Amino acid sequence: MADSALLIREVSAYLKPADVEHVREALEFSKAAHAGQIRQSGDPFVSHPIAVARILTNLHLDVQAIVAAVLHDVVEDTPITADEIAAKFGEPVGELVDGLSKLDRLQFETREDAQAENFRKMLLAMARDVRVILIKLADRLHNMRTLASMSPDKCERIARETMEIYAPIANRLGLNDIYRELQDLSFKFLHPNRYAVLVKAVKAARGNRREVLGKMLDTIRQRLAEYKIEADVSGREKNIYSIYKKMQSKSLPFADVLDIYGFRVLVNDFVSCYVALGTLHGLYKPIAGKFKDYIAIPKVNGYQSLHSTLCGPFGMPIEIQIRTHEMHRIADAGVASHWLYKSGHNSIKALHSKTHQWLKDLLESLSQSTDSTEFLEHLKVDLFPDEVYVFTPKGKILSLPRGSTAVDFAYNVHTDIGNHCISVNVNNEPAPLNTELRNGDRVEIITAPHGKPNLDWLSYVTTSKARSHIRHFLKAMQTGESAQFGERMLNQALHTLGIPPEDITEAHWIRFLRDTGAKSRLDVLADIGLGRRFNMVVARKLACIGEALPNETDYSSALTIQGTEGMAVQFAKCCRPIPGDPIIGALKSGHNLMVHTRDCPSLHKGRSSGEQWLDVVWSKDIQRPFDVGIKLVVANRRGVLAKVASAIAEEESDIENVNFSNEGEYTALLFTLQVSNRLQLANIMRSLRKMPEVIKIIR
Ligand code: MN
Repeated sequence: MADSALLIREVSAYLKPADVEHVREALEFSKAAHAGQIRQSGDPFVSHPIAVARILTNLHLDVQAIVAAVLHDVVEDTPITADEIAAKFGEPVGELVDGLSKLDRLQFETREDAQAENFRKMLLAMARDVRVILIKLADRLHNMRTLASMSPDKCERIARETMEIYAPIANRLGLNDIYRELQDLSFKFLHPNRYAVLVKAVKAARGNRREVLGKMLDTIRQRLAEYKIEADVSGREKNIYSIYKKMQSKSLPFADVLDIYGFRVLVNDFVSCYVALGTLHGLYKPIAGKFKDYIAIPKVNGYQSLHSTLCGPFGMPIEIQIRTHEMHRIADAGVASHWLYKSGHNSIKALHSKTHQWLKDLLESLSQSTDSTEFLEHLKVDLFPDEVYVFTPKGKILSLPRGSTAVDFAYNVHTDIGNHCISVNVNNEPAPLNTELRNGDRVEIITAPHGKPNLDWLSYVTTSKARSHIRHFLKAMQTGESAQFGERMLNQALHTLGIPPEDITEAHWIRFLRDTGAKSRLDVLADIGLGRRFNMVVARKLACIGEALPNETDYSSALTIQGTEGMAVQFAKCCRPIPGDPIIGALKSGHNLMVHTRDCPSLHKGRSSGEQWLDVVWSKDIQRPFDVGIKLVVANRRGVLAKVASAIAEEESDIENVNFSNEGEYTALLFTLQVSNRLQLANIMRSLRKMPEVIKIIR
């Protein structure tokens, strides 16, 4: 096939013979893989990857990139996998092809302008390797060149995406030729009539202008030669889209836009640029305010040139661009101009450092510029972003700091979503809430009315927004729960004093708050629940019955524990009380009430530290299960654990955890079980005791 022969000829011009051989192998492989596939245009499919590779040979891309371009659609469109490509053509090529296939799956869907920038950043971030973007741009360019064979609405979508996403990326990376062509092609499909009119008019005008242009070229060349400036001078055509933009933005009629002649002057060195500029300003008068020094202050994509508009013969405006050959190379190929084929980089890391080197080199070559750091920052942010870009279910793109999890995402969408999220689907698969998000992930948060943050979340969220909302929620929840519990303690105290709680009115509270300086009723109740205020003291003050007698604070009647107090009531890990056990509550200032069994050994130690002791009893109708620990000493016999476990299950208890330890000829099994009360535990222990293997049971 002629195209593949051309490709081989082009790569032979700058690649080593061994590398040319690789390209040839890739060609054969791609032809075989795509055999029988036909493009919409009627051409054999393989003509497309070959054309893409040929666009890249223009930029002298390295062998890996050319091979990847030839193979770029194999994974998407044939049964061959990225792993097979990597095995046959090496890991770096496999990664390039894989990166391209991932980009293929992204579609820009929304029409919001603000989203376009995020989408561009997501593409750049996902690519990781600049070459992936370069191949993608070449792919898009060839698809645009052959777009006519697609259905009209597909044309429109692809053209719009190209105009909003790919052309700006090409511009950002300084790939000027590709940028202009993408713009013109998009314009052609978005506004076919305007495009046709402009093309026709340009063609007509060009014929009339040929003579004038030739004369002016000669004059400029002569003048530069007189001043001994070595220069290549050429006439310059504006692309159709930039003519259109200029007409629009300046409201100029077509004739005025086209009546501007453009020339490009390429010189050998930096100083000659300014000498040539001075010479041409001497030839034709410069128009005031039209001079721009992009050498001193390059554009953000690294573009450097002097621009000036001169007043030519008969007052015709002449636009000139003056730059060195080196600057021109960058102006045309941008980032690609530095991607020389010499290097045999293998890893992403090496590539990153190479791109950093490129940035450094570029910075040095721009060292006259005051603005170059800004340029550097721009590109660095684009190529190595600190953010990840992910989709919402509606296709909106959010940017989050690297390392963000699904919970960060939820809070980023809305505080309520964060506070009520219970699970997440990432790319339509259920995933844990602590899943770290990757570029391009589609994240769907599932919420439920009863969902609420928990303390664990704080250990894996990255964004300060999520962190502060979780803290705030937990704090409010704790205050609320403590206040509820505090209210019960207060009512208990009022009962003890013989006052029905409903006798305490709003007026009592207002006076109490005024007299004590407390902030609110909620605060006072939470303070009681957290042991910061004594319930008896508050009760007396509210009811205006004078100071408590010494020690009376201890004597309110027993408080009922319902098991639904949330954080306000905790069950001590040392003795693990369960309903039915005689219990006692310990309340330390600023802490939640801690419930112990009455015979808990740790109670005898801590009496000193200002703890308040509360008489507590279990409520009769507790629904929730409690954790309890039991230790079994069993004979080392096969299957004993299974027997024990099934005996426990038969009593309808869940095993939360088991640990083993060897005790001589016996084994100790340490179970954490869930039981609802002492009776259930007694039944479990009784049935375990019946087993001959069980030597001893201790709670
Ligand atoms: Mn393609």
